[in-house]
Amino acid sequence: MPEPWYHAGLKFRCLGAECGDCCSGKNGSGAVWVNAPEMLDLAKHLGLPFDEFTRKYVRQIGERYSLVEKPNFDCVFYEAGKGCTVYEARPTQCRTYPFWNKVMAAKEYWKLEAKACPGIGADETVVTGEEIARNVVEDRRRFPEGRQGI
Ligand code: SF4
Ligand code: SF4
Repeated sequence: MPEPWYHAGLKFRCLGAECGDCCSGKNGSGAVWVNAPEMLDLAKHLGLPFDEFTRKYVRQIGERYSLVEKPNFDCVFYEAGKGCTVYEARPTQCRTYPFWNKVMAAKEYWKLEAKACPGIGADETVVTGEEIARNVVEDRRRFPEGRQGI
């Protein structure tokens, strides 16, 4: 099997709280998809019963579930200047970004994603091809049919 185009690694460093573009409502409304295990992890992390967690923090979109948004479209768990307040329990979609299957499908898509994520090419920090591939596999496993809606 040929090596993926990113096998030598790519320049990326998440700018974290000083950025927050993928968590804030800067680019409008979006979905942060969560499945049952991810909701359970988040509920446990927050010390809440599952029912209470879903009532407060989850909305249904079609047949799937997403974290709710604040009125300004920020993720409910995003705090400006602080970042993700549930970082250790953040769902797969957040953990694997920007190394999503659809982004890594071609170099052109990666370059396009740089418009949304300032961490791409931020400095000389390199994420290895192996690490990227692990994220792609995880993303594909979690979203085998793609991630329609975002
Ligand atoms: S759960 Fe955390 S990492 Fe994911 S979008 Fe919300 S604030 Fe960002
Ligand atoms: S948009 Fe990119 S650099 Fe900014 S917080 Fe998200 S992953 Fe990090």
